[in-house]
Amino acid sequence: MGEEREKRAAIVAACLRINTVGLNQGTSGNISVRHGDGILITPSSIPYEQMVPADIVFMEMDGTPHGARKPSSEWRFHLDILRARPELNAVVHAHAPYCTTLAIMHMEIPAVHYMVAAAGGANIRCAPYATFGTQELSDHIIEALQGRKACLMAHHGMLAAEDSLDKAMWLAVEVEALARQYHGALLLGDPPLLDDAQLAEAVAQFTAGYGQADKG
Ligand code: 13P
Ligand code: ZN
Repeated sequence: MGEEREKRAAIVAACLRINTVGLNQGTSGNISVRHGDGILITPSSIPYEQMVPADIVFMEMDGTPHGARKPSSEWRFHLDILRARPELNAVVHAHAPYCTTLAIMHMEIPAVHYMVAAAGGANIRCAPYATFGTQELSDHIIEALQGRKACLMAHHGMLAAEDSLDKAMWLAVEVEALARQYHGALLLGDPPLLDDAQLAEAVAQFTAGYGQADKG
């Protein structure tokens, strides 16, 4: 139970932080973390400043929720990602301003900076639009995440998934920084891209292990 309590507290702290760093506003966005035979996921529509650890919903892998609160309306894609990708343990979804600006235009983030490789490959794709909370949206996201740990979501936002909540938060912040940089470069002209070999080398560096060995 101690581990579950820690995860619930970490999710609430991450929600507060995601607002503080400007990736979300209001009650938009949601976070999940794998836990035992299911996931812990933020409740739907509760402002982050009012959210307490007990509000986080435990959901079985078949979608059965437990507890008093209704799970995030996006529980389908959180569950589907964590079901389809055993190497990933946490998902952060946000309506981050620059990512969402590109996603409104159905634009992906190409290899304008080596940090694109942090998401797993030469681009960060934009999943086609579908209504929030639907299986169709989840299916589009799973497709856009092939070989990747982040994607944009057309007319909606973005998400980042990683093997820990800390890393998923880190990746979400980096992807929003990339979106801001790409947006800025587009204002100056037609940005040149890194070539496949340059990107492959950056991906290899990340795969070899970026960060401190003890970073969760
Ligand atoms: P929830 O409050 O239900 O998590 O929904 C917010 C959101 O971002 C929907 O896409
Ligand atoms: Zn959303």
